[in-house]
Amino acid sequence: MVRASLSRPDMNIVMLPDATEAEVAEVVERFRSRGAEVSVSNLDGRIVVSASVEARLEHDAPWESFPGVDRVVSTVPGGRLVGRAHRSDDSVVSVGRVTIGAGAPTVIAGPCAAEGREQLLTVARAVRDAGAQILRGDAFKPRTSPYSFQGLGKLGLEILSEARDETGLPFVAEVLDPREVDLVASYADMVRIGTRNMSNHALLREVGRQPKPVLLKRGRAATVAEWVDAAEYVYREGNTNIVLVERGVRSFDDAVRNMLDLAAVPIAKSLTHLPVMVDPSHAAGRSDLVIPLARAAVAVGADGLLIDVHHDPASALVDGAQALLPEEFAELMVEVGRVAGALGRV
Ligand code: PEP
Ligand code: MN
Repeated sequence: MVRASLSRPDMNIVMLPDATEAEVAEVVERFRSRGAEVSVSNLDGRIVVSASVEARLEHDAPWESFPGVDRVVSTVPGGRLVGRAHRSDDSVVSVGRVTIGAGAPTVIAGPCAAEGREQLLTVARAVRDAGAQILRGDAFKPRTSPYSFQGLGKLGLEILSEARDETGLPFVAEVLDPREVDLVASYADMVRIGTRNMSNHALLREVGRQPKPVLLKRGRAATVAEWVDAAEYVYREGNTNIVLVERGVRSFDDAVRNMLDLAAVPIAKSLTHLPVMVDPSHAAGRSDLVIPLARAAVAVGADGLLIDVHHDPASALVDGAQALLPEEFAELMVEVGRVAGALGRV
C-alpha cells in the first residue's frame, strides 16, 4: 500500500532544465492524488514543484526516478531552495550595474532617511565620491513612536530617483506595507525588508512576486534559521535575487543599540547560497563603532556593508547618533579596502 507521511511540511521537487510539461504534470498529479496542496514555480529557469506535505511513498519509486525530475530539496534550513543543497555555487545579485556576492565587498551608503532634496543630494554626492556603489535612503521609515518622522513617502522616492540620475548610483529603499510594494519598486533599484518586518509573511510574499532585488535584514530577535526561512518565503515566489543583512540582535547590554552577530555571517553563508552583508550602523547605534565593526565584517567574509552617512548628524531626523560624516565614511572606505586587499577580495 502507498502511504503518505505528513511528518514534514513543504517539499520541493526540482525538475531538470529540459523537463516537459507532461513530466511536470505527472509530479503535480502524484502529489495531488495524495491530498497535498501543490504550487509550481519557475526559479532560475528551473521548474520547482512544491507541496504542502511530504508524500513519502513506501514501496514506490523514489522521486528522482521519475522522468524529468532532477532532485528533491528537503526542508531542513540547509536544504531549502535558498540552501546549499539547491545550489552549491554562490548567488551573485545584480543591482543595476553593481554586483553583490562576486568577491569584492559592495558598499551601500547614504542617510537613514531621505529628509529633503538638499540633504539627500549632498550625502549622495559625498558617498559616490568616496566610492560607495549603491545609495541608501528611505522614503518610508519604521519608527518605534508613531509621533516620530515617518518619511517623505512618494516625494522621498522622487528625490532618491533624482539623486540616482545625478550620481549614477542605484538606490535601495525600505518597503513597509504589502500595498506599497509596487510603488517603492517602481522607483527603487532594490527593495529592503527591515528587521521589524522579517517575519511579515504577506510582505515577504509580495516582494517575492516583483522583479527588483531584495535586501532582507535579520529580525532583531530572529535565529539564523528563521532568517533563512524568511528568505525562502521570498525565493519561493520566484524572486531569487536576495541579499541577507546581519544588523545585530537585541541583547542585555545597552552599551550598543544591538549586538552585532558576526558569527551569523559565515553561518548564513554556509547554510545558503545568498550573499550576506552587514549593517554596522544599525547594530552599533554609535558612529564611533562603525569603522571597527565594518573592518571586522569584511574580515569575517561579509559580501558588503550598509552604512549610514549624514553631512550634519546633529540635525538628522532619524538615527543621527550612528551616522558617519562624509570624511569619516571616506576613511571607512580606505580601511575596509585595506582589509579586503589583505584577503585578496578586490
Ligand atoms: C534602516 O536600515 O534604516 C533600518 C530601519 O534598519 P533595521 O530594519 O535594521 O532597524
Ligand atoms: Mn535607521
